[in-house]
Amino acid sequence: MTTEVDVAVIGAGQAGLSSAYFLRRAELDFVVLDANAGPGGAWQHRWPTLRLGGVHGIHELPYFPFESEDLDRPASEVVAEYFGAYERKFALPIRRPVKVQSVTDGPRLRVETDHGVWMARALINATGTWDRPFWPRYPGQSGFLGTQLHTADYPGPTALEGKRVVVVGGGSSAVQALMEIAPVAAATTWVTRRPPVFRTEPFTQEVGRAAVARVEEAVRAGRSPASVVSVTGLSVTPEVTAARESGVLDRQPMFERVLPTGVAWADGRFVEADVILWATGFRAALDHLAPLGLRGPGGGIVMDGTRVAADPRLHLVGYGPSASTIGANRAGRAAVREIRALLGQRTTTAA
Ligand code: FAD
Repeated sequence: MTTEVDVAVIGAGQAGLSSAYFLRRAELDFVVLDANAGPGGAWQHRWPTLRLGGVHGIHELPYFPFESEDLDRPASEVVAEYFGAYERKFALPIRRPVKVQSVTDGPRLRVETDHGVWMARALINATGTWDRPFWPRYPGQSGFLGTQLHTADYPGPTALEGKRVVVVGGGSSAVQALMEIAPVAAATTWVTRRPPVFRTEPFTQEVGRAAVARVEEAVRAGRSPASVVSVTGLSVTPEVTAARESGVLDRQPMFERVLPTGVAWADGRFVEADVILWATGFRAALDHLAPLGLRGPGGGIVMDGTRVAADPRLHLVGYGPSASTIGANRAGRAAVREIRALLGQRTTTAA
């Protein structure tokens, strides 16, 4: 089956839904293709102990209040319900589960999926990062006899009861995991490549803007972006202070190798481990765009705002500086404004 549309949106997380809202308002003909079986984007997969009260802050979708009061409920459930309600309220044309396998060039962009082909005049890619967990490689890793997990598969602390756990990574996922694993585990060890940055000053709009500006500069230059959430530093809450004082957040430098029963440093130190939790972040899930050859020598895609510099039909929303719930909202609006101008222009020229 081949269907023609003005705009194809890939992904129905915050970035895809925000884009869909503005496409609807612009009265463009569009479809949203989402690989998940239900609403919620990546949020529906986040670990069950990530409570609404424990996230950095979820910004509401355009023109639809997010009114959940229950901060103890898992973010995965609350956000999935909220996204579902949003999709229904604005009758967004979402097709799922539909996984986009490739996008290829031509007079129209050819979007090939496991459920048919869409031919689009423009494309908004909003596929986030959750589907591309980043696993660093260390010598000996494949010979480890215990369990290796990534944040993307982290089941919560109960499964790690009585285990000796090494947590790798300097971001808030690592810190949150350590604080909840330590009370039930036999032992925890925290290792990071660089010393973690604890932010003692409050998270103001200026701090947020400075973080976004740093990531924006990277993608404009075609470098691979760090996540906005990762460059804002670790908040020092009373729980974090307590965990630092009790030694749970006593960070060790990165180990040199993995042995069958633990991890070892160059100076001869060794820590036994049953589990290594790689809280080492994610990369942009863009494999399906590979046929377009967008990646440059800097490892990233050269961007101008949300637009791919090399092709004005392509926008990446939720990528780089817009990889946060608030950033995704703004980027959706900006992408649709540009696409509407582009398609309007083409229609006029053709007429
Ligand atoms: P996602 O929510 O990941 O949605 C992408 C969608 O695309 C998914 O539904 C997926 O199935 C679909 N998809 C992917 N590939 C394909 C394909 N090939 N074909 C079809 N569909 C596809 N931001 C905040 O503002 N506050 C926070 O507290 C916060 N906490 C975070 C905690 C963690 C652990 C992580 C990883 C991120 C966090 N973020 C936070 C970032 C934030 O979640 C996202 O940047 C934001 O929600 C935008 O998501 P998105 O729509 O880009 O992607």
